Amino acid sequence: MPESLDRSAEATAPPRIPVGISQCLLGAPVRFDGGHKRDQYCTGELAQWFDWVPVCPEMAIGLGAPRDSIRLQKRADGAIRLVAGKTGVDHTDAMEAWSRPKVAGLGELCGYVFAKRSPTCGMERVKVYTHEGMPDRAEGTGVYARLFMAANPLVPVEEEGRLNDPQLRENFVMRVFVLWRWRQLCREGLTAKALLDFHTDHKYLLMAHSIPAYQQTGRLLAQLAGQPIADVGDAYVAALMQGLARPVTRGGNANALQHIMGYFREHLPPAHRQRLRDSIEKYRRGLLPLSAPLALINHFLADFPDPYLSRQVYLAPHPEELRLRSFH
Ligand code: SF4
Repeated sequence: MPESLDRSAEATAPPRIPVGISQCLLGAPVRFDGGHKRDQYCTGELAQWFDWVPVCPEMAIGLGAPRDSIRLQKRADGAIRLVAGKTGVDHTDAMEAWSRPKVAGLGELCGYVFAKRSPTCGMERVKVYTHEGMPDRAEGTGVYARLFMAANPLVPVEEEGRLNDPQLRENFVMRVFVLWRWRQLCREGLTAKALLDFHTDHKYLLMAHSIPAYQQTGRLLAQLAGQPIADVGDAYVAALMQGLARPVTRGGNANALQHIMGYFREHLPPAHRQRLRDSIEKYRRGLLPLSAPLALINHFLADFPDPYLSRQVYLAPHPEELRLRSFH
């Protein structure tokens, strides 16, 4: 297991990562009808690791529950407003006035799970009504979610419905853990050495997701000398998080695995090398799951320890208990 997770495992309790969430997803009766949308995955498995920070913007601006349902509605001038369905009361200004300082104060979150299709919390594909009140295209973004994402571009966001997709789920949780490590690093004080070490830890993970981002981060760090460390750190983490948001493919994983094997080559007897090569090739062709070559690498690392490979986050980007890589 990489040192980065070993370090967290050394603590008596698992890491508690602050992640925002639409409050109704935790089972709070805050929806317009007085109900909730309790999400099993969030309140179950993820709650072991995530310290949920619940927010219900509609309750926060005093709409109460139950309440008149609200929706996104396009005005005659094209502006999209947050409007009560029955009374036509426009809540946009109140929602924006409350949301702006709120989202600015949530900068230390490492992720956010929004309730889907909400005119307040939906991060995409929210239904927009016409000026005449007819349902139109699902092309809107919830007012609060839009302001949160604009103020916190680094923070991974997802909707609870999309978390049912194993690939989106893995990608989201992986990015939450990466941002959590980054925030820890910044809290300890970012130095050039710490930044280079962090990059080394995440090298193969980023390589698997995005070669352009991998190259971009490499270029940024090559120009580190003489630059303000905070500026380089900001540019680095932006490129890193953007690259990791790209869905990983079999080709991307196989490429990272081959680089790991190349690094490992001198330590491994020829028969072991061949086994690993075959396993990576079968994974690339869809004949084996990702767990097969990873298990071999971890097994060989136990027999032939290598500090550089052992620290690679790619080998264990999130806790095993979450079983997030089984779809690969
Ligand atoms: S979707 Fe957002 S605003 Fe609506 S009930 Fe849930 S937390 Fe509240």
